Amino acid sequence: MELYSLTIHEIAKKIKSKEVTIREVLDSVYSRIDSLENKVNAYINLTKEYAYISADKLQKKLDAGEDIGFLGGVPIAIKDNMCIKDVKTTCGSRMLENFVAPYDATVIERLELAGAIIIGKTNMDEFAMGSSTESSYFKKTVNPWDITKVPGGSSGGSAASVSCDMAFAALGSDTGGSIRQPASYCSTVGLKPTYGLVSRFGLVAFASSLDQIGPFTKDVTDMAIMLNAIVGHDEKDTTSVNLDKIDYTKYLINDAKNITIGIPREFLKEGLNPDVKEAFDIAIDKLIKLGAKVIDVNLDYIKYSLATYYIIATAEASSNLGRYDGIKYGYRTDKFDNLLDIYKKSRTEGFGEEVKRRIMLGTYVLSSGYYDAYYKKAQKVRTLIINDFKRVFEECDIIALPTAPNTAFKMGEKNLNPLEMYLEDIYTVPVNIAGLPGISVPCGFCHFNMPIGLQFISSAFEEEKLLQLAYTYEQNTEFHKMKPNI
Ligand code: GLN
Repeated sequence: MELYSLTIHEIAKKIKSKEVTIREVLDSVYSRIDSLENKVNAYINLTKEYAYISADKLQKKLDAGEDIGFLGGVPIAIKDNMCIKDVKTTCGSRMLENFVAPYDATVIERLELAGAIIIGKTNMDEFAMGSSTESSYFKKTVNPWDITKVPGGSSGGSAASVSCDMAFAALGSDTGGSIRQPASYCSTVGLKPTYGLVSRFGLVAFASSLDQIGPFTKDVTDMAIMLNAIVGHDEKDTTSVNLDKIDYTKYLINDAKNITIGIPREFLKEGLNPDVKEAFDIAIDKLIKLGAKVIDVNLDYIKYSLATYYIIATAEASSNLGRYDGIKYGYRTDKFDNLLDIYKKSRTEGFGEEVKRRIMLGTYVLSSGYYDAYYKKAQKVRTLIINDFKRVFEECDIIALPTAPNTAFKMGEKNLNPLEMYLEDIYTVPVNIAGLPGISVPCGFCHFNMPIGLQFISSAFEEEKLLQLAYTYEQNTEFHKMKPNI
């Protein structure tokens, strides 16, 4: 068994007991990257030099008998929209091609405090806008399960890297599904935490009322470990909540008996791929056998989620991306006549098509003539969706849904029709709109062998319930053990 194919809990043990050195672990994962990266294109930048310096420091500490943290020496990848001091943070955009971050994101500080080693920055849709990682300015990441297909997005590089052992875990960001959907397409575990649980200081903003950072891992145990590392109050992020810290690994309990699962069946009809539906039904049967109680629930307003999301997300994006003007930092055009010309040309040349589409849409829904009709209305519907979830969580502990309506699609297949691409988020966006946590776990394969994900959603700040159910499901199935044949 190669070191790179182990989980965090396995490798951390081997490092601590000195069965392997941290350098050996890094060598193993970088050699895996060397052999696969030209096929998979998961990374925008590797941070090799920095990683080996950290490895040697940690090894010295370990050899001196000091504590190196529960992630001591574990190699982790980071989506390229999170800042690492003195490392490029491109956001998959020409606009930030040469931007070197002057500080660390809080999640980076926390991972390093727990002993993790950052090995590289992963590819993503430009400014996290997309569901396929095809809108990156730099490269197209492929799905390790079938290299003619997309890995999902926008955190496609993170999902692909974890699924084929090019990282032990990775961080992604999820504004409307960008962790859970690629996790489902690539057969990894992916968690979008409750809004406010994980600091976003140092995450490049896309849609601030929806963005959340979360991990991709090889199994649910690793997810609890990663969550332990990154949660917690941060005064640098005003949306970060101040709650008592809990140890999520305590909730890795193989028992579904006291859990009631609600299924919004109305939502499982139109547009749902039959293979995904079948895998979902089989998974629910399994959970019933494991003792969970399953009931039908109604989420009446959820059908408006996608429309609501694409108004709110684009509105916020248009405002957040206003800062890229060719003056303060980022790309600046070479030839210009005056100030207005700098703005125009820098933005025209620096942003890709999807980003421009969103800026225009967002500017439109915020414009004085249309604000009431679109933006304000969307905010009202948002409240209805939030209330809908609140009502349903009085009847059940967890809502179960497929993570995405389909399995990974062919590269280029949905590029010409953005609406079709947006539909891939139908089961994930309601969760962001309501600020709730959601996890995706592998639950099967379609008839041409592409992975399928099962999603669990809970009330805010009940990640421990998600982990317990996900763990129970995982312990009684084999899907998480399957690896792509690449
Ligand atoms: N695919 C969705 C979008 O394009 C979600 C993106 C995300 O979660 N960052 O907006």
